[in-house]
Amino acid sequence: MVFSRSILLINTGGTIGMVKDAATGALRPVDFVHLYEQIPVLKKMPVTIDSYTFNPLIDSSNMHPGNWIRVAEVIEENYEKYDGFVILHGSDTMAYSASGLSFILENLNKPVVLTGAQLPLGKVRSDGRENLVTSIEIASAYEEETAVVPEVAICFENLLLRGNRTHKYNAEHFNAFHSFNYPALANVGLHIRYHTNYIQKPNFKALKVHKKLDTNLVILKLFPGMARQAVEAILNIQGLKAVVLETFGTGNAPTDEWLLSGLKAAINRGVIVMNVTQCNGGSVLMGKYHTSVGLQQIGVISGYDITTESAVAKLMYLLGEDLTRDEMMLLLQIPLRGEMTVGDEDRGK
Ligand code: ASP
Repeated sequence: MVFSRSILLINTGGTIGMVKDAATGALRPVDFVHLYEQIPVLKKMPVTIDSYTFNPLIDSSNMHPGNWIRVAEVIEENYEKYDGFVILHGSDTMAYSASGLSFILENLNKPVVLTGAQLPLGKVRSDGRENLVTSIEIASAYEEETAVVPEVAICFENLLLRGNRTHKYNAEHFNAFHSFNYPALANVGLHIRYHTNYIQKPNFKALKVHKKLDTNLVILKLFPGMARQAVEAILNIQGLKAVVLETFGTGNAPTDEWLLSGLKAAINRGVIVMNVTQCNGGSVLMGKYHTSVGLQQIGVISGYDITTESAVAKLMYLLGEDLTRDEMMLLLQIPLRGEMTVGDEDRGK
């Protein structure tokens, strides 16, 4: 068989990479040296697959930005050698890691596909086999010498989604992920149908890996009756640089004077406050209702239709760069990796 494409499989951990130990009957991490024994159908694919395994393997609840950077380094070290990268990852924080990687990897011209499973590979009904095989097919899909999906994506069940648009919305279903504000990059069925209009175009520039992330930020999710003390304690955290303010609807918040003045004081100290809606779908539109006018007036910036996961990752990335406040403000309000849609542009709905 002629192998036309090569894939590096990076196993970070999570449910997918588990098989039943023949001796004990317990689930243990699969040894990808024996990948072809576990999934014989891979032998039929016109792809060579090498693997890199994290040691120890990580339940994704324990993934942190340092691990995202390590994944990015492995990609950087192997970028010329492979046509695409498939990352096995726990589903719980996959949307954060995918968002993080999309910002860390600038000028990405090759596919980086994250996948996982709700049931381990070692289980008879595992969704992991299909997810893995499909991810490998997508990561090795090229038209002539150009990757079909040159971006960070999540492949789960029957969808390929832009990584930084994705949210894990179901803890149980095989279809665990959704991208509420951006269409699927591909639908997986009898065929893999790529929606090329929605896929990033390659820019053929050299890959740039950003390895400094700053985690001095919080997510502040508003709820009716939230105590002043709690909000003030959060806004006065020492060293705080940014707040992802999860608001109601189109970016609305209680108009209590103490809330607005607390936020204003934080903004005046240099803290960035980014308005992201608690709704799964739709966009922040400050000024639409009276309950968001005050936020706009004190300098809260709009996250438009960005996900919370992506807002967190984008802030970590930009805070880690050596930027002036004006540069930072500008970059926060324009899409850098297709993570948000500004204004009333096509959200593919
Ligand atoms: N707890 C697991 C993880 O996120 C669940 C999964 O793999 O889907 O690592």
